[in-house]
Amino acid sequence: GLVPALERAESLITLIPDYPKPGILFRDVAPLLADGPALRAVTDALIAPFAGEFDVVTGVEARGFLLAGAVAIAAGVGLVPIRKAGKLPRPAASADYTLEYGTATIEMHDDIPVGTRVLLLDDVLATGGTIAAAKDLVARVGGIVTGTAVLMELEGLGGREILGDPRLHHIFRG
Ligand code: AMP
Repeated sequence: GLVPALERAESLITLIPDYPKPGILFRDVAPLLADGPALRAVTDALIAPFAGEFDVVTGVEARGFLLAGAVAIAAGVGLVPIRKAGKLPRPAASADYTLEYGTATIEMHDDIPVGTRVLLLDDVLATGGTIAAAKDLVARVGGIVTGTAVLMELEGLGGREILGDPRLHHIFRG
C-alpha cells in the first residue's frame, strides 16, 4: 500500500554529515531514486495534491530535474528545465539567489505559452532561496506556479515562511 511504500522511501534517504561543507547534514536522496517502488511512490505523492492543476512541471538543476522527469511522465505533462547560469542556449530570464556562501544564478527558457500552469519541484527545501528564485523565473517567462512540492522540507530554516505558500507540499520532514 501507499503508506508502507512511502515509509520505505523515507528510510532510503541517507544522512551525510558535513557534506558539502562542515555543519551541513546533507539529505542524500540518491538511494531513494535508485529504488523503483520508492521512486514510484514519491512521484505519485508529489503529484497528488495538485492533480489536474498543472500543464507542465519544472525542477531546478540538478536533483529537481530527476523528479521533474518522473512526475512529467506519470502526470502526462511536459517539463521545462531551470538550469544554473550559462547552461541554457536561449535564456529568457535569470534570477539571482543567496546560498550559504555567496550567490548563484539560475535561468529558464520561455518555451511555455503565457498562462501555463506550472508545478515546481525540488528534492529538499532548506532556506527557500532556490524555490523563491525559481518561482520568480517562472513568473517572468509568463507561467503561473500553481503548486510547489518537495520530497523533504527542513524545518526551522525559514523556507516555508519565506515562500508564504499555504499549499506548499512536502512528503517528508527533516
Ligand atoms: P535552499 O535554497 O536553502 O532552500 O536550498 C535548497 C537547495 O539546496 C535544494 O536544491 C537542495 O537540493 C539543496 N539543499 C540545501 N540543503 C540541503 C541539505 N541539507 N541536504 C540536501 N540538499 C540540500
